[in-house]
Amino acid sequence: MVSSPFDETVVPIGRFAPSPTGALHFGSLLAAVGSYCLARHGGGRWLLRMEDLDTPRVVSGAADEIMRTLEALSLFWDGEVVWQSRRTERYAAMLARLDEQGLVFGCACSRKEILASAPHAGEEGPVYPGTCRSGLAPGLRPRAWRLRVPSSQVCLTDGVFGPLSQCLADEVGDFVLRRADGLFAYQLAVVVDDADAGVTQVVRGQDLLSSTPRQIYLQDCLNFPHPRYIHLPLALSAEGEKISKRHGAVAVGRGGELIWQVLRFLGQPVPQSLRGAPPGEILAWGIRFFDLAMVPKASRVPNSLIED
Ligand code: GLU
Repeated sequence: MVSSPFDETVVPIGRFAPSPTGALHFGSLLAAVGSYCLARHGGGRWLLRMEDLDTPRVVSGAADEIMRTLEALSLFWDGEVVWQSRRTERYAAMLARLDEQGLVFGCACSRKEILASAPHAGEEGPVYPGTCRSGLAPGLRPRAWRLRVPSSQVCLTDGVFGPLSQCLADEVGDFVLRRADGLFAYQLAVVVDDADAGVTQVVRGQDLLSSTPRQIYLQDCLNFPHPRYIHLPLALSAEGEKISKRHGAVAVGRGGELIWQVLRFLGQPVPQSLRGAPPGEILAWGIRFFDLAMVPKASRVPNSLIED
């Protein structure tokens, strides 16, 4: 399984897929600006999807705030916004398609049981030990639904991080498609949404790199094409953790400065003379000159944070 080689002749369809769990912060803006410039650089479309599937984490008003912020920063998207919360029937249909292929099984394990039987937690929590893979013990009811994963390697070439491979069986285990609370899992939703929207280029934070082999495997199972993957370095707080909504929303009033800082963080030599220019003007520079080869791999504290 190899994700498709980059085909520069294809007009890209990119997307930004924020979770409306809070306002936009510097970290999420990296993905927005990176995906925007790379899609527009290739003359392509840039779509917006609200990942509001995890309803308990959704903050009321956050989606609206994100959209207003994007507009204030001249990050204008194409077409209608896609709302994951309105697409559950589609996710159910795709889960059924996987089930028909014998790839899905019900799992009765609690998180605590999985932790107890798999103490060697990987980067994303414990590797599922396969407890319910060959059927549930009598009297047990399925809580979640999982996808059977193969022991072969999933390979991809990331636009920043280069060639990578992962053995899902060893490093992740059979993963959840529908959670115990009935919600569809991010991994399934993102694959179905990207395919339905014809997304050819996924640009997002490096924290999602480890999810990508799962998504590529799901695309294979569902007979979907593989988009090109580009993962960007993360912005860290002064304490060395990933910047999140906890660290505050971006200051739209200083939009030009912000976009300038984002492009510099992404290794782009945006001229000093553009610093503080209107966001649209700086983005126009980004669309024209964005060079993937300049994007650094290292996550770090952005200068704007040091200066503030
Ligand atoms: N909704 C995810 C986030 O805000 C991004 C998912 C993706 O880009 O695939 O972190």
